[in-house]
Amino acid sequence: MNCLKCGKKTTRTEAFCQECMEVMERYPVKPGTVVQIPNRNAVQAEKKNQPYKREPSPAEQLAHLRGIVRWMTVTVAILSLLLCLTAGILLHLIGNDTAAYGIGQNYITTSAD
Ligand SMILES: [Zn+2]
Repeated sequence: MNCLKCGKKTTRTEAFCQECMEVMERYPVKPGTVVQIPNRNAVQAEKKNQPYKREPSPAEQLAHLRGIVRWMTVTVAILSLLLCLTAGILLHLIGNDTAAYGIGQNYITTSAD
């Protein structure tokens, strides 16, 4: 039999092991008091119900990686689009501000007259 309090192996006649008996004798309870002992089966069932992390299967890992790749592809496409838009706007602004200059030309030629 196991100790009802801590679960250690005890002799057949003992409900509680010596350690638990010593602890309980330090905190005496009046005769007739209702004492509730934790239900070991309920505690174990609660532990079993807790979701435990298992290694995902290769198929699940592949699906997860495909999801990441899809997400990255969309992100790169959006960023490229934004870059093109920004570059277009910038070039347009430069073109308007310096009408006399060509794109990439930072000088004006003058005649000697
Ligand atoms: Zn015990």
